Amino acid sequence: NPHYFHFQGQEFKLQAHAELRFEVEAKASVELEMTEGRGEMFGTELAKNKKYIFVSGSKVAIYTWHGCTIVLKGKAEVAYISKETPMVVYVNTHAALEQMRQKAEAENTRGPRILVVGPTDVGKSTLCRILVNYAVRLGRSPVLADIDVGQGNMGLPGTIGALVVERTADVEEGFQQTAPLVFHYGHKSPNDNFQLYNMLVSRLAEIINVRCEQSKKVNCSGVIINTAGWIRGAGYEALKQAAGAFEVDVICVLDQERLYNQLKGDLPDFVKIVLLPKSGGVVERSQATRAESRDNRIREYFYGLKNNFFPHSFDVRFNDVKIFKVGAPSLPESCLPLGMKSQDSQTKLVPLVPSNSLLHHVLSISAATTVDQDIVETNVLGFLVVTSVDMDKSVFTVLSPAPRPLPRNILLVMDIQFMDIK
Ligand code: ADP
Repeated sequence: NPHYFHFQGQEFKLQAHAELRFEVEAKASVELEMTEGRGEMFGTELAKNKKYIFVSGSKVAIYTWHGCTIVLKGKAEVAYISKETPMVVYVNTHAALEQMRQKAEAENTRGPRILVVGPTDVGKSTLCRILVNYAVRLGRSPVLADIDVGQGNMGLPGTIGALVVERTADVEEGFQQTAPLVFHYGHKSPNDNFQLYNMLVSRLAEIINVRCEQSKKVNCSGVIINTAGWIRGAGYEALKQAAGAFEVDVICVLDQERLYNQLKGDLPDFVKIVLLPKSGGVVERSQATRAESRDNRIREYFYGLKNNFFPHSFDVRFNDVKIFKVGAPSLPESCLPLGMKSQDSQTKLVPLVPSNSLLHHVLSISAATTVDQDIVETNVLGFLVVTSVDMDKSVFTVLSPAPRPLPRNILLVMDIQFMDIK
């Protein structure tokens, strides 16, 4: 097969400021070991002589500031060394943010809040990871927020969320997500329910503010926010809305001068807007690959990155849970009760009678304990997938990361589906 390399211990010698890039072949894995020098993956330092395993589909870059030797074993689609990287620009951005943190620390104020924006596949998530890692390496505890509902880096696709980062990302598994704060949105694009999306972004910002007020360290470390690659029309409005909700100080625009200029014209002067180059290593993904990566993210939640989790499957009686979806189909204003706007229906909680149409849908388990709470704006504890529905017995079967009983009985249904086949 000419499309992949089968390494049986191939050595790559990287000079200072070079980067080794490789992509793991489907259904294969690649073992990586750094045998000499110092290198890092998206801001996390590699341990010398430790063997890291990268799973199918991973796109990896190992960068070195001073030179290192890397040994690869396994099947990679491509593997090459590049000397052209934007890492110096990224580290300078980090240095500027760190100065803002020092100032905030000295004056007991808030650290920098950074929104990372740009089209899809320019390395937005990667830049966030690098900036967060560099901050953590200096002893900071920044908040990493993700409002890209398409990939759902904190929870699942269809959610937004945030976490306080105290440790650099694990080379293989990313940031440790023991207690992320996650909100249910339910769709894969912000456009599917624009009003709900904006409302949840504001809610997330509000809770992050509360968290920052509780800890001086977190407060001066700041917030780094990853966004969806949707930057035109309503997508652009959503970015401006997010910039306002999080009260950002800095916007990093990756790779798009047009967006950079547009933001410069539209945002107040105290927001610093910087244009950053994208890395030539970031590969564009097709619509299909993106859908596949969404699916993988859900599989990973239940089965683990290396198939090392053992999810549970059990029946839930219709009577034991309350199922809702957020957003009623919008009616023309003329059909609505006096004083109600069609927009209001978009954020309304609608009770669902369980039926076969639940099949394969992802459900979020709300942290709310009673239906009197504001369920739409309450965070979620975890997720289930409906794997079968039995209308005669009035039960449905779920795939669950934890054994029964369910921690709560209020469930929110997503548009997003997952087929539990391996
Ligand atoms: P975005 O958030 O803009 O959609 P990502 O940060 O998710 O983009 O990057 C897309 C893919 O490219 C990811 O799989 C990431 O691991 C990979 N990637 C990022 N930077 C590099 C690089 N320098 N070399 C190779 N692959 C990279």
